[in-house]
Amino acid sequence: MDFAAFAALCYELEKTPGRLAKIAAAAEYLKRLDRDEIRPGVAFLSGRPFPVSDPRTLDVGPGALAEAYELPETRNGDKPLTILEAAEDFGKIAEAAGKGSRREKFARLRALIEKTAPAERRILFRILHNELRVGLHDGLILEAIAKASAADLKTTRRAALFLSDLAEVAAIALPGGAAALEHVDIKLFVPLLPMLSELSEDFAEIFKAHGGATALEYKYDGARIQMHKQDGRVRIWSRRLTEVTDSIPEIGALARSEIAGDSFILDGEVVAIGKDGRPFPFQELMRRFRRIHCIEAAAGEIPLRLYLFDCLYLDGVSLIDEPYEQRWAKLAEITKGNHLAERRITGAAAEAQSFLAESLAAGHEGLMAKSPASPYMPGNRGKLWFKIKPAETLDCVIVAADRGSGRRRGWLSNYHLAVADAVGGFAPVGKTFKGLTDKQFGAMTERLSALKTGDDGYTVTVTPEVVVEVAYNEIQKSPQYSSGFALRFARIKRIREDKDPRQASTLAELQALYEKQFTAKSRR
Ligand code: AMP
Repeated sequence: MDFAAFAALCYELEKTPGRLAKIAAAAEYLKRLDRDEIRPGVAFLSGRPFPVSDPRTLDVGPGALAEAYELPETRNGDKPLTILEAAEDFGKIAEAAGKGSRREKFARLRALIEKTAPAERRILFRILHNELRVGLHDGLILEAIAKASAADLKTTRRAALFLSDLAEVAAIALPGGAAALEHVDIKLFVPLLPMLSELSEDFAEIFKAHGGATALEYKYDGARIQMHKQDGRVRIWSRRLTEVTDSIPEIGALARSEIAGDSFILDGEVVAIGKDGRPFPFQELMRRFRRIHCIEAAAGEIPLRLYLFDCLYLDGVSLIDEPYEQRWAKLAEITKGNHLAERRITGAAAEAQSFLAESLAAGHEGLMAKSPASPYMPGNRGKLWFKIKPAETLDCVIVAADRGSGRRRGWLSNYHLAVADAVGGFAPVGKTFKGLTDKQFGAMTERLSALKTGDDGYTVTVTPEVVVEVAYNEIQKSPQYSSGFALRFARIKRIREDKDPRQASTLAELQALYEKQFTAKSRR
């Protein structure tokens, strides 16, 4: 297929407001792709030069892009550019890497651009920017793939969870239809979305949902990892499916030496641990995850501990449809009981409460409660897994608000939060747009507008008047705010109509709460 046909589809999608019409147009396009055009054709449709599971990147800097925009609008030759050729040329651009490759990269980019006529070129540039801007998100592409291959949505969605790449889903669905999709299963070295949980504060609700008893595990405040191993090879992905193998080599080594099984996929959490055996705050762990250089030095400085809690695949067999208890039994077997999350199965509220207190006292975040009979459902957030994490709250004053965009346009929706300082002022500690209903956003916008003291077009400053109860997960040191602190995952729990700003939490209280964190957590 010519790239011009793809560009024409993009312009059509841009003009088509309806969801169903967009899906229908995209499905028609997919049906017209030849077999070898499917992967690049779907990647382009999602605004990417390469499919998600293809590790190549273009690495074209903003300078080169700016220069590319200046190229004359005429096309070299009159042979139309095809989708396959565009994909090949993207590959050539990605390949030019290393020292002194910048000119070569630009030459290859230029050669590709010069193969396009103006209408195609505009779309090509959008792919170079990784955004097609035609209102076709991944959910709609998935529906288009289902429609084009006459498969039902459920089967298509399930395959997408296992493959984590719509280009791969399409490559199977379009030629093979629903029957081929049904055979898609969990695969080694293809990360799948982690199973998620719903928040609960009520053990009675949990016991009821889980048929009387639940499997409680410590909820560790670290980073989720998914570990795949076959023979001696190990690869590890983060919760967002970014590969982190090279950032945490000691975890890979552990998987090779301490866990039995020729091949496996395990789910777990890594936590940074201080010399006293207590977990470091989350901020410290992220320094390890982001680190690419001096990994060995960091490994000594910020040691990691692994807590495993699920086994999705073992020695060639998928376990995700097996009940939790059997998956746990397999996990306990291959680890010989080491590196496992602390766990207790109970149907008694008092026992659950005391297990929760134990977890918090050991510096962890709370508990997870898992239905003993549940299968592993990738990407699913529901009542099969609950999380119980008592949040701390502070009463903050709103001192400013940013104007919303998208769905929040017209509202003052991102609130700057502050605590009372010692000299009669307010010290900022973070921002949040979470926690209010649409109706509350509207009312808050009116209220803050009436308190306006300044407006730079984006941020409106207000007289500190409105007090809100803010839940957060951790107090972090932050150079960004003059208070010196930032609340992690701040969200509004309630509007405290009963409080005036002089009764808000103080900076001294915040400092004390920050220090208190270290009675359970380790400090550098
Ligand atoms: P949240 O990020 O607050 O939605 O909570 C879910 C996260 O808790 C998971 O994605 C894991 O990273 C983390 N977690 C910690 N301990 C466990 C555990 N025992 N089971 C499942 N998830 C856990």
